[in-house]
Amino acid sequence: MSLFKKSGAHQWRGVIKEYEKRLPVSSKTPIVTLNEGGTPLIYACVLSEMLGNDVWLKFEGANPTGSFKDRGMTMAISKAAEDGAKAVICASTGNTSASAAAYATKAGMVPVVLVPQGKIAMGKLAQAIAHGAKLLQVKGNFDDCLTLAKQLSEQYPVSLVNSVNPYRIEGQKTASFEVIDALGFAPDIHVMPVGNAGNITAYWKGYKEYYADRISKSLPAMWGFQAKGAAPIVRGKIVKNPETLATAIRIGNPASWKQAEQARDESKGLIDMVSDAEILSAYRLVAAKEGVFVEPSSAAGLAGLIKYKAAKKLPKGKKIVITVTGNGLKDIQWILNGADKPITVPVDVKKAAKVIGLS
Ligand SMILES: *Cc1c(COP(=O)(O)O)cnc(C)c1O
Repeated sequence: MSLFKKSGAHQWRGVIKEYEKRLPVSSKTPIVTLNEGGTPLIYACVLSEMLGNDVWLKFEGANPTGSFKDRGMTMAISKAAEDGAKAVICASTGNTSASAAAYATKAGMVPVVLVPQGKIAMGKLAQAIAHGAKLLQVKGNFDDCLTLAKQLSEQYPVSLVNSVNPYRIEGQKTASFEVIDALGFAPDIHVMPVGNAGNITAYWKGYKEYYADRISKSLPAMWGFQAKGAAPIVRGKIVKNPETLATAIRIGNPASWKQAEQARDESKGLIDMVSDAEILSAYRLVAAKEGVFVEPSSAAGLAGLIKYKAAKKLPKGKKIVITVTGNGLKDIQWILNGADKPITVPVDVKKAAKVIGLS
């Protein structure tokens, strides 16, 4: 029952309830939700000016566990619940485990998460622990974790909720619906980071569905950016030992590789790469100029646009949406390392004013 009935205020009900007709659920599906989705689409004044285009940020860090992974997880866990699952498993660079742990707990299931040893952000590790996940650090990288998770789900009674699970993609496509519902049109270009490539696959699916039903009149070009040290799609071959500080996209053999290429080609888009230095600089910029704090991986899309602008390869006067995928609070070391120490002042208005530069 709505608490807000009298005032007429409306609380967002989560992506399954909001987009029920477009998702593979029925009256038999127990909906497991933390009211994910409905995230802000923020007009970015400084970036628009800087890039010579109208730029919006789709701020996925505002989801319940702080990343877009919640959109897919509500679907995956709801369907697992429908199938009577008691335990779920996933491999994760961090955000999937945070999300799986929260949603599995909400559903009364046991979450099991496999993360690469020493390569996930502390905030994400803390989330999995807080939500009571059985957490295994694997001596290997993300790709090894995924292989192990798949094998466990094939041989034991535990369901896999990685983005190879088709329900994850279904849930994640709702972000495209939200963009069009908010703007009233599809952007010319949609930009995002690419890791395991589930998200670019999901967005493209969502855009195509609205277009097919004539809710939008056009389709965006999908632009994806990988990290230079983890750019298998750009290089056209598996990267055995992916390396980047952007841990959420530190993936050498993306599960949705083919689908991402398809999204790129069908949309006449591109998938390119950016260096860690370019990622960090975009990461700092979007926080400092737009008030939007994201994690480093999330800034790969913006880094790509800045790189294209500098190379004179960016068109002008277009409508561009950038998905910033996760919350900056998960991985704070990149802001704190090298930052000035806070200034200590006595309880003295004159001295404080002087330090601030007011006098
Ligand atoms: C998972 C994730 C990505 C990568 O998304 P894919 O669907 O794996 O391509 C990017 N940024 C953040 C913050 C993520 O959690």
